[in-house]
Amino acid sequence: MKLRRRLLLAYAALCRVVLGLTFLVSGFVKLADPMGMAHKLAAYGASVELPWDDASILWRIGAVALGGMEFSLGLYWLLGIKRLLTLRFTPVLMAVMTGLTVWVYRAHPVADCGCFGDAIVLTDGQTLAKNVVLLALSLGALMAGRRYIKRLITERNAWLVSIYTVVYSLVVALYSLHYLPVLDFTPYRLGADLRAAVKGEASRAGTAPLSQRDLAGLSSFFAYDAATGDDVTFPIVDHRGYSFLLIVPDVATADDGVGDRIADLYDAARAAGVPFYMLTASDPAGRSEWVDRTGAAYPMPGADITALRAMSRSNPGLLMLHDGVIVGKWSGNDLPQLAEGESPARLEQSPRTALVTLARLTLWFLVPLVLVIVADGVWVGHKYFRHYRYLKRFNHKHHIMRKKIVAGNWKMNKTLPEGIALATELRDTLAADAPACGVIICTPYIHLAPVAELLKGSVIGLGAENCADKESGAYTGEVSAAMVKSTGAQYVILGHSERRAYYHETAEILKEKVALALEHGLDVIFCIGEVLEDREAGRQNEVVKAQLEGSLFGLTAEQLSHIILAYEPVWAIGTGKTATADQAEEMHAFIRKTIADKFGAQAAEDITILYGGSCKPSNAKELFAKPDVDGGLIGGAALKAADFKGIIDAWKA
Ligand code: PEP
Repeated sequence: MKLRRRLLLAYAALCRVVLGLTFLVSGFVKLADPMGMAHKLAAYGASVELPWDDASILWRIGAVALGGMEFSLGLYWLLGIKRLLTLRFTPVLMAVMTGLTVWVYRAHPVADCGCFGDAIVLTDGQTLAKNVVLLALSLGALMAGRRYIKRLITERNAWLVSIYTVVYSLVVALYSLHYLPVLDFTPYRLGADLRAAVKGEASRAGTAPLSQRDLAGLSSFFAYDAATGDDVTFPIVDHRGYSFLLIVPDVATADDGVGDRIADLYDAARAAGVPFYMLTASDPAGRSEWVDRTGAAYPMPGADITALRAMSRSNPGLLMLHDGVIVGKWSGNDLPQLAEGESPARLEQSPRTALVTLARLTLWFLVPLVLVIVADGVWVGHKYFRHYRYLKRFNHKHHIMRKKIVAGNWKMNKTLPEGIALATELRDTLAADAPACGVIICTPYIHLAPVAELLKGSVIGLGAENCADKESGAYTGEVSAAMVKSTGAQYVILGHSERRAYYHETAEILKEKVALALEHGLDVIFCIGEVLEDREAGRQNEVVKAQLEGSLFGLTAEQLSHIILAYEPVWAIGTGKTATADQAEEMHAFIRKTIADKFGAQAAEDITILYGGSCKPSNAKELFAKPDVDGGLIGGAALKAADFKGIIDAWKA
């Protein structure tokens, strides 16, 4: 393998891992805590005076959309799905993100960028550097092109992964919005020793390990008496035994539909002698409103809204402390119940459940994904096996890939019913009298799908006569390689002299077409051949070599094994003039040598080279007898089943 290619492959692998994992992780943390991301987006919005406040549903939709998009993009990178789209979209996304981070770096509108939610907090400078690196990587990958990113799942089955990823993203995000984040990255997670942090002591044994940043967050927790403004943090966190903290960051937007459940819990807690507080950032008017709406009778100390939003992503939400350690967390949609006078010990949640949740989430994602990838691999293997058997069957001369083939090129002939009738006749004829060679018919596009259907189970292969040099898009009238493949066809003719002459298809255009056809799993019948003028001037070898060089020399040996060459002297096509068998052999031997010089002796020995140009039942046997002629590409004589069959039979003893 050439050094350049190796380097590009290594670069693509680097991009796959770095970009894939970065997007996957940043998407996942947003989906796991969409409310946290929504608060962050709202803070950005407020800094530029957008009209929507923190409670607007728009921020939640934005958080889920952003998380889902990043998560899918990460997976597309890792598995090589929709490579062109991924390659084009990533630099655009990164350019927008980098622009935003330049603004964040200079104007500092929010405390931290929120790229990785609360899971990984970067400084503005680190975020900018990260985005510049990702932008540069993605631009490099775009320039290198998609061919260096290997697919880990076939295009045919990739949609399954896409759909599953969307469903998974939505389920994780909606679950986290309805209940609490499936993963809690805030300092106020289960097991956090709030008392020790507030008192500036070391966390006690058995509590959750906390980072310096988490400790800084917890230690700044501050609650005050709403009437007097006195600091009441200590009595709350220093209580021995259980206590409940109902978290209502903002009364105006809190869901009071659960007022009765809160009241029941409060009554039960009071009966058991368990303190119950509501912490809120709302002003006295807001507190009275809450009392009116829910009949609340518990104390309502004030606290900072940012701290409250970190304590609970739900409004209202509930925390349970034991000796100042957080031992329970619930969303307003999932409040616990306590019997009158019952100890809250039963409600304690183990911090280990978070790890179990992470393991479950990962398994829920990975197991179906791995199953799809394995099933896809089995499917590819099965296809390869069938293809291999097919090749072996028509390969009497060698144990290698070279095959005897008779291929028909219908050109612009036959209406749909006529084409169906011809294909049906041919299928039935060959079913009754099996050919001793591979048989392919190449038809106009309109015939492909119905003919593919009727050829199912038959020995006849099917191909198109052309395909576009573009992947897809606004190219009116064109038909892409993917479209051809989707009809059930396995082959495509490219470089036919009529396309080169009348439609000005250059070597460069054909190179693109070949790349696309191979990429979409089509084998290519690639035509080469000189015009009369060249032959008369003795330039035929030069011309044919240049055609090979211009369109095929960039291929790998593996790609070349999906090419069938067809030597068609242009002066012999449709003219009734046939190259003599010796002329054909001379050129075929030259072509094989040219292939050997470039791709090695084995590749030259393996490649199938057909002859085309007024081949008929009467001259086929003589042509096919030549050692380097592996069969024919047939134009006019392919339009009648009897003539075509006559040529096919030339391979019989
Ligand atoms: C052809 O166009 O591929 C061809 C070989 O045509 P004909 O057999 O009609 O010369």
